[in-house]
Amino acid sequence: MIARVLQGSGGTYRVRAEGRELDCSLRGRIKKGNTGSVAVGDRVQIEQLEDGSCRITEVLPRESVLARRAMARRRDQVMAANLDQLAIVVAVTRPEPDLHMLDRLLAVAELNDLDPFIVCNKTDLSDSLPPDLDLYRTIGYDILPTSVNEPSSINVLRERLAGRTTVLAGASGVGKSSLLNALMPGLDLRVGDVGERKGRGRHTTTSARLIPLDDETYIADTPGIQHFVPTGVSVEALGHAFPDLRPFEGVCRFADCRHRAEPGCAVLEALANDQIDQRRYEAYLDILAEAEAAELATRTRGDG
Ligand code: GDP
Ligand code: ZN
Repeated sequence: MIARVLQGSGGTYRVRAEGRELDCSLRGRIKKGNTGSVAVGDRVQIEQLEDGSCRITEVLPRESVLARRAMARRRDQVMAANLDQLAIVVAVTRPEPDLHMLDRLLAVAELNDLDPFIVCNKTDLSDSLPPDLDLYRTIGYDILPTSVNEPSSINVLRERLAGRTTVLAGASGVGKSSLLNALMPGLDLRVGDVGERKGRGRHTTTSARLIPLDDETYIADTPGIQHFVPTGVSVEALGHAFPDLRPFEGVCRFADCRHRAEPGCAVLEALANDQIDQRRYEAYLDILAEAEAAELATRTRGDG
C-alpha cells in the first residue's frame, strides 16, 4: 500500500493511506533510493504485519524537497518532501501585512520550485485590499481574498488547494489556524497553532507536519519557513527568485552580476528609473547577504 508521511519523530511515522491514519515503524533495511531518510511528505510503501502493526518498506522517489541549512551539520536538513505550492497568508488588517516577510517567502517559494500565491484574509474587516498588495499583483502573483466568515471565499481557497500539497505560511495572527478550521470543520486547531509551535531548545525548530484535507490534498505546516536561508542555489541565480528583477538581470554587463554596485548593472539602472520597487530591491539585498554568508560557511566547512 502507498501512503503519505504526515509526521515523524523518534522512529515512528504517522502516515495516511486510503482515508486512514496509521503509525508506522521503519523496516530494518529500507530501500531509500538516493534519499537520506524518511521525511514528512514522502510517499512510502507500507506493509501491515500479522500483529496489525505497520512498517515503511520503501521511500518512493521525491519530486522535490524543502531543505533548511543546519549550521552545525554537514548536510542541509530536509524539512519536507513533495510540496507543490506555498500559500502566503496576510491579513487586510490586524495585523497589517508584513511585506518583508512576504518578500522573503515569495523568494523561498521561487528558489524551492513552490508555486506561490497570496491569501489576503480578514476581508470582512475592510472594504478594500491593502494598496501595498497592488505591487504583487503587478509582478504576477495571484491574490485570493478570504474571510473565515465568508464561506464562498473558503470554497475558492479549497479549490485552489485541491489535489495538491500546500505550505501554509505567514505572520502570527493573520488567521492560518482559523482558515484551516474553516476548511476542515472538526479539525479543531487551537487558534495560533499553525507555524508557531515552539521547539524545545534554543535553536531547535519544530519539525514539519502535513495536515490532510483528503487523500490527495494536504496542508504542510513548516514552522520558521520565513527564516530559511536559500540552500543549494548559486548566489548568481538569486535574482531569478525576484520576477520583477528578472527582465533586467540578463542585460547586466557581467553575467555573474550580483546587482549591488557593479558597473553596467541593468538592475541598478532600472531601480534608478523606478522600474523596480525600492523595497523589493532591498529584500533582494537582504537575501543575497544571507546566501553569501551561507556560501561562505559551506566553503569553510569544506563540503562545498
Ligand atoms: P494564526 O496565528 O495565523 O494561526 O491566526 P489565528 O487563526 O490564530 O487567528 C488570529 C486571530 O484572527 C483570531 O482572533 C481569529 O479569530 C482572527 N481571525 C482569523 N481569521 C479571521 C477573519 O477572516 N476575519 C476576522 N475578522 N478575524 C479573523
Ligand atoms: Zn546587475
